[in-house]
Formats: sequence, structure tokens, C-alpha cells
Amino acid sequence: MSDHYDFDLFVIGAGSGGVRAARMAASKGKKVAVAEERYLGGTCVNVGCVPKKLFVYASQFPELFHASRGFGWDMGDQPNLNWSRLRDNKTTEIERLNLIYQQLLDNSGAKLFNGRATVEGPHQISINGVDYSAENILIATGGWPFIPEFPGSELAISSNEMFYLEQLPEKSVVVGGGYIAVEFAGILNGLGVETHLVYRGPQLLKAFDQEMGDRVKMGMQAKGVKIYLNTEVEEITKNAQGLSVHLKAGNCIEAGLALYATGRNANTAHLGLENTAVTTNHNGSIQVEDQFRTVEPSIYALGDVIDRVQLTPVAIQEAMVLIDHLYGDNSLEIDYNHIPTAVFCQPELATVGLTEAQAKQKYRNIQVYRSDFKPMLHTLGGAADRIFIKLIVDCESDRVVGCHMVGDHAAEIIQGIAIAIKAGATKAHFDATIGIHPSSAEEFVTLRQ
Ligand code: NDP
Repeated sequence: MSDHYDFDLFVIGAGSGGVRAARMAASKGKKVAVAEERYLGGTCVNVGCVPKKLFVYASQFPELFHASRGFGWDMGDQPNLNWSRLRDNKTTEIERLNLIYQQLLDNSGAKLFNGRATVEGPHQISINGVDYSAENILIATGGWPFIPEFPGSELAISSNEMFYLEQLPEKSVVVGGGYIAVEFAGILNGLGVETHLVYRGPQLLKAFDQEMGDRVKMGMQAKGVKIYLNTEVEEITKNAQGLSVHLKAGNCIEAGLALYATGRNANTAHLGLENTAVTTNHNGSIQVEDQFRTVEPSIYALGDVIDRVQLTPVAIQEAMVLIDHLYGDNSLEIDYNHIPTAVFCQPELATVGLTEAQAKQKYRNIQVYRSDFKPMLHTLGGAADRIFIKLIVDCESDRVVGCHMVGDHAAEIIQGIAIAIKAGATKAHFDATIGIHPSSAEEFVTLRQ
């Protein structure tokens, strides 16, 4: 370490990216500090991926109870959800993970400061009234839900509050058409809450292949979610029972809860960036150049706060690339082109590579293979759920350039296929692969149309 500084690396934010960077730097013998004002593990562990997935599991049981009848099981009384038990068990699990993060940091040798850090200069940080110096500073402060301002917007809640509801309402309105909106619409609907999804655009999940967005919409509607497209909320007012959500289209939905899932902003306010040369985008996210360096040479940023791809595994990979660049042999890279992703809506969506529209733009000649089938579980189970898969192939090279799936276990299946696509698999490789029978995944190696 340079003798001039208290630390080699000062990380602000103990989320997925910050913790991985701190631990890796410490493992390379660097003197590392981490500042966190809220909870260890960041959004993903506390109010994101992990508790969300636990709620998704909880919301799927009614369909499984129903399916079990076709397989000979009698359930007796109508199953009943104990919301507070689910919520509190979830919180206990999150606290266990918080402790693991604490231990990981302690064991790595990084020093953890609990409190809000501000950047006072290119090498200066202040926390809890004490100033520290560092050769490099890493900003990994993540993001925070954004709710637009409109009459009654203070009555809406964000995904953060969804994890700690005192009780479940009978009816809910969810606003937005992205990841969080469709995921929570599925959770609420599955938990027995009458759910109305309001989106201002014509198509849910517009960043995904259009056919997949359409399939998700049809599947959600079949499960009971009421979907309103091309309309916005004009006003929310209070009534004796709860809320009245007035839509610009003219109708009004009475509900106990209005969840806004309208994007997330970077956590850069009051961080002290004005004391440095660091520049931000119009939405407050930090601008970085190669290797996550800001225009201030000693300050780096990664993860949701740079708003490239707001996904936990991406932040972790960015952290590993940065630390390898700073303290390793600078051989690691991140490939933003082959990032598999899943939306845990119901039906589930997972994807890797290009959409059909993107592939048409990039390649002269593409071939699209599709399959639409009923998964075996539902033959006796009786649900109307189907699986839809789509493979996009560049005819010239025969390479599979996009792979999409809507239906049961999509995330688990696409994760494996993503390895093949990253390795440059061709359609001929898919065709020459022997299927696992009977499975849904085998459809990917028997696509002929
Ligand atoms: P998204 O960007 O996915 O979606 C935001 C939605 O809100 C869009 O449909 C957008 O509409 C709409 N919207 C934005 N502003 C307004 C407004 N003023 N009025 C009405 N609607 C508005 O954000 P999310 O909040 O859903 O999620 C944030 C990010 O978190 C995701 O992009 C994803 O990267 C990550 N995430 C990942 C998950 C996963 O991996 N499974 C799960 C959850 C989140 P329009 O399209 O018209 O702009």
C-alpha cells in the first residue's frame, strides 16, 4: 500500500458488487474498507432477488395443490395462507444471509464501517464524522425505486415495502410493465389477491422478444391477472376501504394497495460527487469509461449505480473484472452480449442473446424455430399452462444467436443453454445433442420447424 493513504481501496456500498470487490481486493493483500448505511447484501439480498424468489415460491403453491388432485392426492380443507408466517420466515432467512455477508467481510480482512459515507475529494471519504484517505474509491451504491409524482403518489408504495406488508390486501393495483411489475403481479395473484396490472405502453416487457412478452401477458391473464395497457394512473385517492386508483382511460379500481414498479434510480444523491470530477447521466447514474473508471482517475463505479445492466450477477462480474484490473493481471473481461436473464413472472420468462427484431437488424438471413407444448405435469395436473420456446439462428454461420423460453423452469433451463451460446454453439450442435427424456428442455434439441 502507498504510505500516503489509510486504505488502498474504499468501497461505498455493501451490495453484491461492493462486497465482491472488497473481498477480492482484500484477498490480494490490499487494505480495504467498506461503508454501508443500510443492510449488508444490498437490494438483491434484502429487498430484491432473494425475498422476491421466496415470495414467488409461496405464490405457486395453490396451483401445485390443484395439480396434485389429478395425481391422486386429496387435500382436505381449502388451503389457507398465513401471510405473517411467510413474511417473518422470509425475514429470518434474510437476516441469516446478512450475517453470512458480515462473516465473509470479516474473514476477508476488510474493515466494515456502518454509516453513510460521502466523498470529500478524489482520495477522501468521510464517515460518521471521521475523514479517511484511500488510493482508490469504488462507488457501488446501487439504486432505489422511483415513483413519479402525480396527485396521490404518496399513497403508492414501492417494491421495498412489499416485503414488509402488515397484511395482504384483497385487491391490488400494480403499475409498470417491466421486471418488477410483472413479477409482483404474479406473486400477489398467486397469493390470492385480486390483481390489476396497469401499464402505459402497448406491450409488457418491451425490452424482450415481442412474442415472449405477448406469451407472458396471455399466461398472466389466464391465471387471473387483469391487465390494462396503453393507460396511466391519473390520481390515487383514499376511501373508507382503502384506495381508489383513477385511470386516465376513465375507469377507477378500488384496491387496498397500489404498487409502483416504474424503474429504479441510481443512488448518487448527497454522495459528495460535486467534490470530484465524476460525471453523471441525466438519471443520476455515474458515467464510467473502460474498466469502470470515472473521469476522476482514482474513483471507480459499478453495478446498478452505473445503470448498464441492473442485474446482480453482472455487478459481481464487474467487480471481479475491476479488481483483476487494479490488482491482478488484467485478464478478466465482461461480455455484455451474452447475459442470460429471467423474469420470475408467472409464467416465467428466460432469455439469452438477441430478440428476433435485433437478429433481423444484425444478420442478413435468420431462421426462427418455435415450439409450443403442454408440459407433462399439466397433463394430469389439469392447468392450461403451456411452454413456448424460440431459437434464432444466423443462417450464414449456423450459430444460435438468440434463445427464449416462457414457461415452467425457464430460468433453470436457459442458464444451461447460455453456456452453449456463449461458447458459439451452432444449430447443428443443438441437433446433434441427445435429449433428456422426458423433459421440457429436450425440446431445444429437437426443434425442426
Ligand atoms: P424496468 O425498467 O424493468 O421497468 C419500469 C417500467 O415502469 C417500464 O414498464 C416503464 O415503462 C414504466 N414506467 C417508467 N416510468 C413511468 C412513469 N412515469 N409512469 C408509468 N410507468 C412508468 O424497471 P423495474 O423497476 O421493473 O426494475 C428495475 C431493474 O431491476 C430492471 O430493469 C432489472 O434490470 C432489475 N430487476 C431484475 C430482476 C430479475 O433479474 N429477475 C427482477 C427485478 C428487477 P416504459 O417501458 O414505457 O418506459
